Amino acid sequence: IYTVETDGVFDFKTYLNGTWTSSKEFDEIKSPIDLEVFARVPRLNYEMVDLTLQTIHNKGKWEIRDMPGEKRLEVFHKIAELLDKFRQDFVNVLVIGNGKTPSAANGEVNASIERLKRADLDVRKLYGEYVPGDWSSESLEAEAIIRREPLGVVLAITPFNYPLFDVVNKFVYSTVAGNAFVVKPASSTPVPAILFARLAELAGFPRESLAVITLPGREMDKIVQDKRVSVISFTGSTETGEHVMKVGGVKQYVMELGGGDSAIVMSDADPKASAQRIVMGVTSYSGQRCDSIKFIFAEGGVYDRLKAELVEEFKKIKVGDPRQDGVSMGPIIDSKTVDEFQFAVEDAVKKGGVILYGGKRLGPTYIEPTLIEVDKEKIKDLYLYKKEVFLSIAVLVKVNSVDEAITLSNGRRYGLDAAIFGNDINKIRKAMRLLEVGAVYINDFPRHGIGYFPFGGRKDSGIGREGIGYTIEYVTAYKTIVYNYK
Ligand code: NAD
Repeated sequence: IYTVETDGVFDFKTYLNGTWTSSKEFDEIKSPIDLEVFARVPRLNYEMVDLTLQTIHNKGKWEIRDMPGEKRLEVFHKIAELLDKFRQDFVNVLVIGNGKTPSAANGEVNASIERLKRADLDVRKLYGEYVPGDWSSESLEAEAIIRREPLGVVLAITPFNYPLFDVVNKFVYSTVAGNAFVVKPASSTPVPAILFARLAELAGFPRESLAVITLPGREMDKIVQDKRVSVISFTGSTETGEHVMKVGGVKQYVMELGGGDSAIVMSDADPKASAQRIVMGVTSYSGQRCDSIKFIFAEGGVYDRLKAELVEEFKKIKVGDPRQDGVSMGPIIDSKTVDEFQFAVEDAVKKGGVILYGGKRLGPTYIEPTLIEVDKEKIKDLYLYKKEVFLSIAVLVKVNSVDEAITLSNGRRYGLDAAIFGNDINKIRKAMRLLEVGAVYINDFPRHGIGYFPFGGRKDSGIGREGIGYTIEYVTAYKTIVYNYK
């Protein structure tokens, strides 16, 4: 599936119509660590994707639908074994291609293996229902079976930050339900999806039921519109997601969009333990997680101690080349996002923000993890409040009460998750009820993990839920079969 060119760069093919395919044009893939090119992947043109959609629509979607369910599970288990066997290749790609630390890269491989194995739990949600007719005079002589059926072809569009897990997760819930699967990986990190397709091929997944289409996002409109695609499962920014839904028209959608979470710290919280978890939530994978903490709202009784502990925790974060020992925060995916970071820091300072830690750019793709204290009266004007800046930066705000924190948190357009630290059960219950988010984490920082618990956003953070079993609802449709006995 790849050759190593004399310049040491890997030239990949991609997987279409059951074969490994190249193209006249290539895209260069750079490492965020040093901005050096380490791979080239084919840049497909529309005609190639059109042919792929034809194959998958005419053949692939029937091949996977006709495969016995237990056989699908066997294939997933085989892929999981292969992923473990070739773990180091995937870890290397996640370190070089994404700038993850080796331990974070191993974590992503482990999560992907676990997700493949847990497909057995999705199966339960595939069952249908029986509805007796005798509750209505209109259907006294009838009864119905409600079946769940696959919708056909799922188009997955995935972001750069979990380039293996996101593909695996969407692949599992789509295909366990009997759909064919086309994935368009993020243009900056397409290699894990290509390598994954190779494992699926080796494990015996039906060849024409899977395709990896590598092309720039801006060339996706005709594919997103295409009626041969029945479901779009998109993870990425709110802006791109809105565009996809506008262009895509009437289809089924799963939309996991922008986030950036709030942490609320109550006066009775343990400042040290809360600070440790919050800083993990701010800095892990350099803050390039949809569920990363971007706002910390703390009550007066804990504020000063929490602030001091947060700064101590930030000091422990070592930024650098993730291949070096002791580095806990690697680079940011591209220098454009770091430009946005600089803009956001300047904007916060202009609005009276005080930098408590960090604030500086350390290179084209490196930043200091950053904590800025901002007055609650000013936060609604901040660029950071209005727009998700996808890296390690958090705003600390002193509030009078949990109610005030909830109002400020709900005032953002996003509603992915929130965390609440402390012990007062009444206030915790209130926050649980009133926060307009998909998930509330109590005394922990938000993390979606393998989706053992369902996750997904409200408001501009998305539509639908991902999580083992839970997404079956979006990739299948009910079919009602009515038996009339008269
Ligand atoms: P992005 O929106 O830039 O790209 C996402 C995908 O969309 C990529 O594959 C990209 O190539 C593609 N794309 C770009 N333009 C397109 C177009 N016009 N039509 C169709 N596809 C197009 O996002 P990103 O920078 O890769 O990822 C970061 C974003 O993802 C953040 O906003 C983050 O919060 C979000 N995210 C959300 C979740 C969640 O569960 N809610 C999880 C991970 C990431």
